Amino acid sequence: MDKSNYTKNLVNQARRKFLKQSLVMCSSASIAACGGGSTPTQLATSPLPPTTNSNDTPGILTETSAPLNIVIIGAGMSGLIAGYELLRAGHQVTILEARDRFGGRVHTLYDTFENGQFAEAGASRIPSNHNLTLSYIEHFELNIDPFYPRTNNYFNIQNNVSSIISAQEYINQPPWPGSVNRSDFYKIRGGMANLPLALANSLSDNIVYASPVESVQQSNENVVIYTRNNEQYLADRVLCTVPLPVLNKISFTPPLSDQKTLASNGGYDYTDSTRLYTQFSERFWLADNLNGWGDTNWPEEVWQPTWDSGESSGIIQSYLRDTTATEIDSFDMLQQIESVHTRWQHVFPQFEDIIIRNHVHSWQKEIWTGSAYASPTNTQNVALASHIGLAEGRVHFAGEHASQFHGWIQGAIASGIRAANEIHNLTNR
Ligand SMILES: Cc1cc2nc3c(=O)[nH]c(=O)nc-3n(C[C@H](O)[C@H](O)[C@H](O)COP(=O)(O)OP(=O)(O)OC[C@H]3O[C@@H](n4cnc5c(N)ncnc54)[C@H](O)[C@@H]3O)c2cc1C
Repeated sequence: MDKSNYTKNLVNQARRKFLKQSLVMCSSASIAACGGGSTPTQLATSPLPPTTNSNDTPGILTETSAPLNIVIIGAGMSGLIAGYELLRAGHQVTILEARDRFGGRVHTLYDTFENGQFAEAGASRIPSNHNLTLSYIEHFELNIDPFYPRTNNYFNIQNNVSSIISAQEYINQPPWPGSVNRSDFYKIRGGMANLPLALANSLSDNIVYASPVESVQQSNENVVIYTRNNEQYLADRVLCTVPLPVLNKISFTPPLSDQKTLASNGGYDYTDSTRLYTQFSERFWLADNLNGWGDTNWPEEVWQPTWDSGESSGIIQSYLRDTTATEIDSFDMLQQIESVHTRWQHVFPQFEDIIIRNHVHSWQKEIWTGSAYASPTNTQNVALASHIGLAEGRVHFAGEHASQFHGWIQGAIASGIRAANEIHNLTNR
Protein backbone atom coordinates (compact mmCIF):
# COMPACT_ATOMS: atom_id res chain seq x y z
CA MET A 1 0.00 0.00 0.00
CA ASP A 2 1.46 3.39 -0.83
CA LYS A 3 2.01 5.83 2.03
CA SER A 4 -0.74 8.29 1.23
CA ASN A 5 -3.34 5.48 1.06
CA TYR A 6 -1.99 4.05 4.29
CA THR A 7 -2.30 7.42 5.96
CA LYS A 8 -5.82 7.94 4.65
CA ASN A 9 -6.84 4.48 5.80
CA LEU A 10 -5.50 5.12 9.27
CA VAL A 11 -7.30 8.41 9.58
CA ASN A 12 -10.54 6.95 8.18
CA GLN A 13 -10.24 4.04 10.58
CA ALA A 14 -9.84 6.41 13.51
CA ARG A 15 -12.71 8.56 12.25
CA ARG A 16 -15.01 5.52 11.96
CA LYS A 17 -14.08 4.53 15.51
CA PHE A 18 -14.81 8.04 16.73
CA LEU A 19 -18.19 8.14 15.03
CA LYS A 20 -19.10 4.72 16.43
CA GLN A 21 -18.08 5.78 19.91
CA SER A 22 -19.85 9.11 19.70
CA LEU A 23 -23.05 7.28 18.80
CA VAL A 24 -22.86 4.90 21.73
CA MET A 25 -21.73 7.56 24.16
CA CYS A 26 -24.30 10.26 23.75
CA SER A 27 -26.90 11.08 21.19
CA SER A 28 -27.68 14.52 22.58
CA ALA A 29 -25.64 17.67 22.87
CA SER A 30 -26.92 18.07 26.41
CA ILE A 31 -24.34 17.23 29.05
CA ALA A 32 -27.00 16.30 31.59
CA ALA A 33 -28.50 13.77 29.21
CA CYS A 34 -25.21 11.95 28.58
CA GLY A 35 -24.49 8.69 30.35
CA GLY A 36 -24.98 7.57 33.92
CA GLY A 37 -27.31 10.12 35.36
CA SER A 38 -24.96 13.07 35.74
CA THR A 39 -26.69 16.25 36.87
CA PRO A 40 -26.57 19.59 35.02
CA THR A 41 -23.35 21.41 35.81
CA GLN A 42 -21.71 24.74 35.20
CA LEU A 43 -20.58 23.30 31.88
CA ALA A 44 -23.65 25.01 30.52
CA THR A 45 -21.54 28.17 30.72
CA SER A 46 -18.67 27.04 28.52
CA PRO A 47 -15.09 27.75 29.65
CA LEU A 48 -14.13 28.30 26.01
CA PRO A 49 -12.65 31.69 25.21
CA PRO A 50 -14.70 33.62 22.65
CA THR A 51 -13.51 33.49 19.03
CA THR A 52 -14.66 35.80 16.28
CA ASN A 53 -14.87 33.31 13.42
CA SER A 54 -14.37 29.60 12.98
CA ASN A 55 -11.05 30.02 11.12
CA ASP A 56 -9.56 31.85 14.04
CA THR A 57 -7.07 29.97 16.17
CA PRO A 58 -4.49 31.26 18.63
CA GLY A 59 -1.78 30.21 16.15
CA ILE A 60 -3.22 31.49 12.87
CA LEU A 61 -0.57 32.95 10.51
CA THR A 62 -0.90 35.44 7.66
CA GLU A 63 -0.78 33.98 4.16
CA THR A 64 2.82 33.57 3.07
CA SER A 65 4.23 35.28 0.01
CA ALA A 66 7.35 33.10 0.06
CA PRO A 67 6.45 29.47 0.85
CA LEU A 68 9.10 27.36 2.54
CA ASN A 69 9.58 23.62 2.34
CA ILE A 70 9.29 22.44 5.96
CA VAL A 71 9.82 18.97 7.44
CA ILE A 72 8.37 18.39 10.89
CA ILE A 73 9.63 15.46 12.96
CA GLY A 74 6.79 14.03 15.06
CA ALA A 75 2.98 13.99 14.69
CA GLY A 76 2.27 14.71 18.36
CA MET A 77 0.30 17.80 19.38
CA SER A 78 3.20 20.25 18.92
CA GLY A 79 4.10 18.95 15.44
CA LEU A 80 0.46 18.75 14.32
CA ILE A 81 -0.37 22.28 15.49
CA ALA A 82 2.75 23.74 13.84
CA GLY A 83 2.04 21.74 10.66
CA TYR A 84 -1.60 22.81 10.59
CA GLU A 85 -0.83 26.52 10.91
CA LEU A 86 2.13 26.48 8.49
CA LEU A 87 0.11 24.57 5.87
CA ARG A 88 -2.85 26.96 6.21
CA ALA A 89 -0.42 29.86 5.67
CA GLY A 90 0.67 28.32 2.36
CA HIS A 91 3.94 26.56 3.22
CA GLN A 92 4.84 23.06 2.04
CA VAL A 93 4.72 20.74 5.03
CA THR A 94 5.79 17.12 5.49
CA ILE A 95 5.45 15.48 8.90
CA LEU A 96 7.60 12.40 9.49
CA GLU A 97 6.22 10.24 12.30
CA ALA A 98 8.01 7.21 13.76
CA ARG A 99 4.85 5.42 14.89
CA ASP A 100 2.03 4.17 12.70
CA ARG A 101 -0.37 6.60 14.39
CA PHE A 102 -0.74 10.32 15.11
CA GLY A 103 -1.10 11.96 18.53
CA GLY A 104 2.06 10.90 20.39
CA ARG A 105 1.21 11.17 24.08
CA VAL A 106 -2.44 11.94 23.31
CA HIS A 107 -3.39 8.32 22.85
CA THR A 108 -6.88 6.92 23.43
CA LEU A 109 -6.96 3.14 23.84
CA TYR A 110 -9.84 2.34 21.49
CA ASP A 111 -8.88 -1.26 20.70
CA THR A 112 -7.92 -2.53 24.14
CA PHE A 113 -11.28 -3.10 25.86
CA GLU A 114 -14.60 -4.73 25.06
CA ASN A 115 -18.09 -3.23 24.55
CA GLY A 116 -16.70 -0.18 22.71
CA GLN A 117 -15.23 1.16 25.95
CA PHE A 118 -12.00 3.08 25.96
CA ALA A 119 -9.54 4.80 28.30
CA GLU A 120 -6.70 7.27 27.92
CA ALA A 121 -3.06 6.15 27.96
CA GLY A 122 -1.78 9.74 28.15
CA ALA A 123 -3.44 13.17 28.24
CA SER A 124 -6.85 12.86 29.91
CA ARG A 125 -8.01 16.10 31.55
CA ILE A 126 -8.05 19.74 30.50
CA PRO A 127 -8.26 22.48 33.12
CA SER A 128 -10.55 25.39 32.27
CA ASN A 129 -7.60 27.84 32.19
CA HIS A 130 -5.83 26.04 29.30
CA ASN A 131 -7.03 28.54 26.72
CA LEU A 132 -4.92 27.23 23.82
CA THR A 133 -6.12 23.66 24.16
CA LEU A 134 -9.73 24.75 24.56
CA SER A 135 -9.51 27.15 21.59
CA TYR A 136 -8.42 24.37 19.23
CA ILE A 137 -11.13 22.10 20.64
CA GLU A 138 -13.66 24.79 19.80
CA HIS A 139 -12.08 25.45 16.40
CA PHE A 140 -12.61 21.79 15.44
CA GLU A 141 -16.13 21.81 16.95
CA LEU A 142 -15.38 19.01 19.40
CA ASN A 143 -17.50 18.57 22.51
CA ILE A 144 -16.23 18.54 26.07
CA ASP A 145 -17.66 16.84 29.15
CA PRO A 146 -16.76 17.05 32.84
CA PHE A 147 -13.73 14.93 33.65
CA TYR A 148 -14.62 14.12 37.26
CA PRO A 149 -17.97 12.53 38.18
CA ARG A 150 -20.46 14.72 40.00
CA THR A 151 -22.36 11.88 41.64
CA ASN A 152 -21.67 9.04 44.12
CA ASN A 153 -18.76 9.02 46.52
CA TYR A 154 -15.00 9.08 46.11
CA PHE A 155 -12.67 7.07 48.35
CA ASN A 156 -9.34 7.80 50.00
CA ILE A 157 -7.02 5.07 51.22
CA GLN A 158 -4.25 6.18 53.60
CA ASN A 159 -2.03 3.48 55.07
CA ASN A 160 -4.63 0.82 54.33
CA VAL A 161 -7.39 2.79 56.07
CA SER A 162 -10.19 3.90 53.78
CA SER A 163 -12.51 6.85 54.07
CA ILE A 164 -15.32 8.18 51.88
CA ILE A 165 -15.65 11.70 50.45
CA SER A 166 -18.81 13.08 48.87
CA ALA A 167 -18.63 14.08 45.21
CA GLN A 168 -19.51 17.70 46.08
CA GLU A 169 -16.65 17.97 48.56
CA TYR A 170 -14.15 16.23 46.26
CA ILE A 171 -14.82 18.15 43.06
CA ASN A 172 -14.78 21.50 44.83
CA GLN A 173 -11.12 21.04 45.75
CA PRO A 174 -8.07 21.35 43.48
CA PRO A 175 -6.28 18.07 42.67
CA TRP A 176 -2.99 19.76 43.63
CA PRO A 177 -2.12 23.19 45.11
CA GLY A 178 -2.46 26.05 42.65
CA SER A 179 -4.73 24.16 40.27
CA VAL A 180 -8.33 24.98 39.40
CA ASN A 181 -10.89 22.85 41.24
CA ARG A 182 -11.66 19.38 39.93
CA SER A 183 -15.07 20.64 38.83
CA ASP A 184 -13.24 22.79 36.25
CA PHE A 185 -11.52 19.90 34.45
CA TYR A 186 -12.90 18.58 31.18
CA LYS A 187 -12.32 15.78 28.70
CA ILE A 188 -13.03 15.55 24.98
CA ARG A 189 -16.18 13.58 24.25
CA GLY A 190 -15.38 10.33 22.45
CA GLY A 191 -11.73 10.38 23.54
CA MET A 192 -8.85 12.84 23.70
CA ALA A 193 -7.50 11.46 20.40
CA ASN A 194 -10.25 13.41 18.64
CA LEU A 195 -8.12 16.56 18.87
CA PRO A 196 -5.05 15.14 17.08
CA LEU A 197 -7.46 13.29 14.76
CA ALA A 198 -9.00 16.59 13.65
CA LEU A 199 -5.53 17.98 12.94
CA ALA A 200 -4.38 14.79 11.20
CA ASN A 201 -7.48 14.87 8.99
CA SER A 202 -6.49 18.35 7.83
CA LEU A 203 -2.92 17.16 7.23
CA SER A 204 -3.68 13.68 5.89
CA ASP A 205 -1.68 14.16 2.65
CA ASN A 206 1.25 15.60 4.57
CA ILE A 207 1.97 12.95 7.23
CA VAL A 208 4.25 10.00 6.54
CA TYR A 209 3.80 7.31 9.21
CA ALA A 210 6.22 4.60 10.32
CA SER A 211 9.12 6.84 9.29
CA PRO A 212 11.55 7.26 12.18
CA VAL A 213 14.05 10.03 11.45
CA GLU A 214 17.63 8.89 12.02
CA SER A 215 19.72 11.77 10.79
CA VAL A 216 19.41 15.52 10.16
CA GLN A 217 22.21 17.14 8.18
CA GLN A 218 22.17 20.86 7.57
CA SER A 219 24.28 23.10 5.37
CA ASN A 220 24.06 26.81 4.60
CA GLU A 221 21.62 26.05 1.77
CA ASN A 222 19.24 23.42 3.14
CA VAL A 223 18.65 20.44 5.43
CA VAL A 224 18.65 16.77 4.42
CA ILE A 225 16.64 14.39 6.59
CA TYR A 226 17.20 10.62 6.46
CA THR A 227 14.69 8.10 7.78
CA ARG A 228 15.16 4.51 8.91
CA ASN A 229 13.40 3.44 5.70
CA ASN A 230 16.28 4.91 3.68
CA GLU A 231 14.15 7.78 2.50
CA GLN A 232 15.60 11.25 2.09
CA TYR A 233 13.80 14.57 2.40
CA LEU A 234 15.14 17.99 1.46
CA ALA A 235 13.89 20.99 3.44
CA ASP A 236 14.48 24.70 3.92
CA ARG A 237 13.67 24.28 7.60
CA VAL A 238 13.15 21.39 10.01
CA LEU A 239 11.00 21.44 13.15
CA CYS A 240 12.01 18.72 15.62
CA THR A 241 9.35 17.86 18.24
CA VAL A 242 10.90 14.64 19.54
CA PRO A 243 10.79 14.20 23.36
CA LEU A 244 14.18 14.71 25.02
CA PRO A 245 14.64 11.10 26.24
CA VAL A 246 14.58 9.88 22.62
CA LEU A 247 16.17 12.88 20.89
CA ASN A 248 19.55 11.14 21.07
CA LYS A 249 18.30 8.50 18.61
CA ILE A 250 18.73 11.18 15.90
CA SER A 251 22.20 12.15 14.71
CA PHE A 252 22.54 15.87 13.93
CA THR A 253 25.20 17.37 11.67
CA PRO A 254 26.60 19.69 12.90
CA PRO A 255 26.01 18.30 16.41
CA LEU A 256 23.45 19.93 18.68
CA SER A 257 24.56 22.49 21.27
CA ASP A 258 26.11 21.22 24.51
CA GLN A 259 22.95 22.23 26.39
CA LYS A 260 20.60 20.22 24.15
CA THR A 261 23.00 17.27 24.17
CA LEU A 262 23.09 17.34 27.97
CA ALA A 263 19.29 17.68 28.20
CA SER A 264 18.73 14.72 25.87
CA ASN A 265 21.18 12.52 27.76
CA GLY A 266 19.43 12.60 31.12
CA GLY A 267 20.34 16.16 32.14
CA TYR A 268 16.71 17.34 32.13
CA ASP A 269 14.53 15.20 34.39
CA TYR A 270 11.33 13.55 33.24
CA THR A 271 8.53 12.02 35.32
CA ASP A 272 7.75 8.38 34.56
CA SER A 273 4.16 7.21 34.39
CA THR A 274 2.42 3.85 34.21
CA ARG A 275 -1.30 3.12 34.17
CA LEU A 276 -2.98 -0.18 35.01
CA TYR A 277 -6.54 -0.70 33.77
CA THR A 278 -9.06 -3.37 34.71
CA GLN A 279 -12.30 -3.76 32.81
CA PHE A 280 -15.12 -5.34 34.83
CA SER A 281 -18.30 -6.88 33.44
CA GLU A 282 -20.32 -5.12 36.19
CA ARG A 283 -20.01 -1.81 38.00
CA PHE A 284 -20.14 -3.47 41.42
CA TRP A 285 -18.97 -0.25 43.12
CA LEU A 286 -22.33 1.44 42.44
CA ALA A 287 -24.01 -0.87 44.97
CA ASP A 288 -21.92 0.86 47.66
CA ASN A 289 -22.70 4.32 46.27
CA LEU A 290 -19.10 4.70 45.02
CA ASN A 291 -18.21 6.14 41.63
CA GLY A 292 -15.01 4.13 41.23
CA TRP A 293 -12.72 7.14 41.79
CA GLY A 294 -10.32 7.95 44.62
CA ASP A 295 -6.78 8.36 45.86
CA THR A 296 -4.30 6.25 47.77
CA ASN A 297 -1.11 7.23 49.52
CA TRP A 298 1.01 4.92 47.32
CA PRO A 299 0.58 7.65 45.78
CA GLU A 300 -2.00 6.75 43.16
CA GLU A 301 -5.00 8.34 41.47
CA VAL A 302 -7.82 5.88 40.77
CA TRP A 303 -10.17 6.79 37.92
CA GLN A 304 -13.20 5.19 36.32
CA PRO A 305 -13.05 6.73 32.81
CA THR A 306 -16.32 4.99 31.86
CA TRP A 307 -18.34 6.76 34.56
CA ASP A 308 -20.52 8.67 32.10
CA SER A 309 -20.99 5.97 29.48
CA GLY A 310 -24.09 3.82 29.38
CA GLU A 311 -22.77 0.24 29.37
CA SER A 312 -23.06 -2.11 32.34
CA SER A 313 -19.34 -2.94 32.21
CA GLY A 314 -16.78 -0.41 33.43
CA ILE A 315 -13.04 0.30 33.54
CA ILE A 316 -11.15 1.28 36.67
CA GLN A 317 -7.58 2.48 36.28
CA SER A 318 -4.66 3.23 38.49
CA TYR A 319 -2.56 6.28 37.50
CA LEU A 320 0.95 5.88 38.88
CA ARG A 321 3.77 8.40 38.56
CA ASP A 322 7.39 8.79 39.42
CA THR A 323 8.69 6.18 41.90
CA THR A 324 5.44 4.20 41.99
CA ALA A 325 5.63 3.92 38.19
CA THR A 326 9.24 2.75 38.44
CA GLU A 327 8.25 0.27 41.14
CA ILE A 328 5.40 -1.26 39.16
CA ASP A 329 7.46 -1.40 35.97
CA SER A 330 9.92 -3.69 37.77
CA PHE A 331 7.17 -6.32 38.32
CA ASP A 332 5.86 -8.90 35.88
CA MET A 333 2.25 -8.42 34.79
CA LEU A 334 0.73 -10.75 37.41
CA GLN A 335 2.59 -8.95 40.19
CA GLN A 336 1.52 -5.58 38.75
CA ILE A 337 -2.15 -6.61 38.83
CA GLU A 338 -1.87 -8.07 42.32
CA SER A 339 -0.13 -5.03 43.67
CA VAL A 340 -2.80 -2.62 42.34
CA HIS A 341 -5.81 -4.83 43.11
CA THR A 342 -4.67 -5.48 46.68
CA ARG A 343 -4.88 -1.73 47.33
CA TRP A 344 -8.25 -1.37 45.64
CA GLN A 345 -9.64 -4.21 47.78
CA HIS A 346 -9.53 -1.94 50.83
CA VAL A 347 -12.66 -0.33 49.40
CA PHE A 348 -13.99 -2.79 46.85
CA PRO A 349 -15.22 -6.28 47.67
CA GLN A 350 -13.77 -9.36 45.96
CA PHE A 351 -14.05 -8.81 42.21
CA GLU A 352 -11.83 -11.41 40.60
CA ASP A 353 -14.74 -13.28 38.96
CA ILE A 354 -15.98 -10.32 36.93
CA ILE A 355 -12.72 -9.14 35.38
CA ILE A 356 -12.89 -8.97 31.58
CA ARG A 357 -9.37 -7.69 30.99
CA ASN A 358 -6.28 -6.14 32.56
CA HIS A 359 -3.99 -3.82 30.64
CA VAL A 360 -0.80 -1.92 31.53
CA HIS A 361 0.64 1.10 29.70
CA SER A 362 4.12 2.31 30.65
CA TRP A 363 5.39 5.45 28.90
CA GLN A 364 8.98 4.63 29.91
CA LYS A 365 8.75 1.51 27.77
CA GLU A 366 7.49 3.37 24.69
CA ILE A 367 10.49 3.60 22.38
CA TRP A 368 9.38 6.88 20.78
CA THR A 369 8.69 8.64 24.09
CA GLY A 370 11.01 7.22 26.77
CA SER A 371 9.17 8.71 29.75
CA ALA A 372 5.96 10.65 30.47
CA TYR A 373 6.83 14.36 30.52
CA ALA A 374 9.55 16.86 31.38
CA SER A 375 9.84 17.81 35.05
CA PRO A 376 13.24 19.42 35.49
CA THR A 377 14.73 20.44 38.81
CA ASN A 378 15.10 24.18 39.45
CA THR A 379 18.81 23.95 38.69
CA GLN A 380 18.17 22.17 35.40
CA ASN A 381 15.52 24.71 34.52
CA VAL A 382 17.82 27.67 35.13
CA ALA A 383 20.69 26.08 33.21
CA LEU A 384 18.86 24.54 30.25
CA ALA A 385 15.23 25.66 29.78
CA SER A 386 16.09 28.71 27.68
CA HIS A 387 18.27 26.57 25.34
CA ILE A 388 15.87 23.69 24.72
CA GLY A 389 13.55 25.54 22.35
CA LEU A 390 16.29 27.59 20.63
CA ALA A 391 16.71 27.08 16.88
CA GLU A 392 20.10 25.81 15.74
CA GLY A 393 20.68 27.05 12.20
CA ARG A 394 17.86 25.68 10.05
CA VAL A 395 16.59 23.29 12.73
CA HIS A 396 13.84 24.51 15.09
CA PHE A 397 12.51 22.82 18.24
CA ALA A 398 9.12 22.40 19.88
CA GLY A 399 7.34 20.00 22.24
CA GLU A 400 5.98 20.20 25.78
CA HIS A 401 9.58 20.02 27.04
CA ALA A 402 10.30 23.26 25.13
CA SER A 403 7.48 25.19 26.82
CA GLN A 404 6.50 26.61 30.19
CA PHE A 405 3.68 24.08 30.58
CA HIS A 406 5.49 20.79 31.06
CA GLY A 407 3.25 17.73 30.97
CA TRP A 408 0.29 19.44 29.29
CA ILE A 409 -1.19 19.61 25.80
CA GLN A 410 -1.21 23.38 26.42
CA GLY A 411 2.61 23.30 26.47
CA ALA A 412 2.84 21.27 23.27
CA ILE A 413 0.47 23.70 21.52
CA ALA A 414 2.24 26.82 22.86
CA SER A 415 5.60 25.55 21.63
CA GLY A 416 4.14 24.50 18.26
CA ILE A 417 2.69 27.98 17.75
CA ARG A 418 5.95 29.62 18.80
CA ALA A 419 8.02 27.47 16.41
CA ALA A 420 5.55 27.94 13.51
CA ASN A 421 5.85 31.73 13.98
CA GLU A 422 9.63 31.51 14.13
CA ILE A 423 9.75 29.70 10.76
CA HIS A 424 6.99 31.73 9.09
CA ASN A 425 8.53 35.05 10.15
CA LEU A 426 11.80 34.24 8.37
CA THR A 427 10.20 35.23 5.06
CA ASN A 428 7.07 37.11 6.08
CA ARG A 429 8.09 40.08 8.18
C1 LIG B 1 0.72 9.79 31.42
C2 LIG B 1 0.49 11.15 30.86
C3 LIG B 1 -0.56 11.94 31.33
C4 LIG B 1 -0.81 13.19 30.80
N1 LIG B 1 -1.90 13.87 31.21
C5 LIG B 1 -2.23 15.03 30.59
C6 LIG B 1 -3.47 15.64 30.85
O1 LIG B 1 -4.28 15.12 31.63
N2 LIG B 1 -3.75 16.82 30.21
C7 LIG B 1 -2.90 17.38 29.30
O2 LIG B 1 -3.21 18.45 28.74
N3 LIG B 1 -1.70 16.79 29.02
C8 LIG B 1 -1.37 15.63 29.63
N4 LIG B 1 -0.21 14.98 29.31
C9 LIG B 1 0.80 15.68 28.50
C10 LIG B 1 0.52 15.71 27.00
O3 LIG B 1 0.09 14.44 26.58
C11 LIG B 1 1.83 16.09 26.32
O4 LIG B 1 2.35 17.29 26.88
C12 LIG B 1 1.68 16.32 24.82
O5 LIG B 1 0.84 15.37 24.24
C13 LIG B 1 3.07 16.28 24.23
O6 LIG B 1 3.02 16.57 22.84
P1 LIG B 1 4.40 16.73 22.07
O7 LIG B 1 4.09 17.05 20.67
O8 LIG B 1 5.31 17.63 22.81
O9 LIG B 1 5.11 15.28 22.18
P2 LIG B 1 4.62 13.85 21.72
O10 LIG B 1 3.17 13.72 21.89
O11 LIG B 1 5.49 12.87 22.43
O12 LIG B 1 4.93 13.84 20.17
C14 LIG B 1 6.21 13.60 19.65
C15 LIG B 1 6.08 12.69 18.45
O13 LIG B 1 7.38 12.46 17.91
C16 LIG B 1 7.44 11.13 17.44
N5 LIG B 1 8.85 10.75 17.34
C17 LIG B 1 9.73 10.47 18.34
N6 LIG B 1 10.94 10.19 17.82
C18 LIG B 1 10.84 10.28 16.47
C19 LIG B 1 11.73 10.11 15.38
N7 LIG B 1 13.02 9.78 15.57
N8 LIG B 1 11.27 10.27 14.12
C20 LIG B 1 9.97 10.62 13.89
N9 LIG B 1 9.07 10.80 14.89
C21 LIG B 1 9.50 10.65 16.16
C22 LIG B 1 6.65 10.37 18.48
O14 LIG B 1 6.22 9.12 17.98
C23 LIG B 1 5.51 11.32 18.79
O15 LIG B 1 4.38 11.07 17.96
C24 LIG B 1 0.05 13.71 29.80
C25 LIG B 1 1.11 12.92 29.32
C26 LIG B 1 1.32 11.66 29.83
C27 LIG B 1 2.41 10.81 29.26
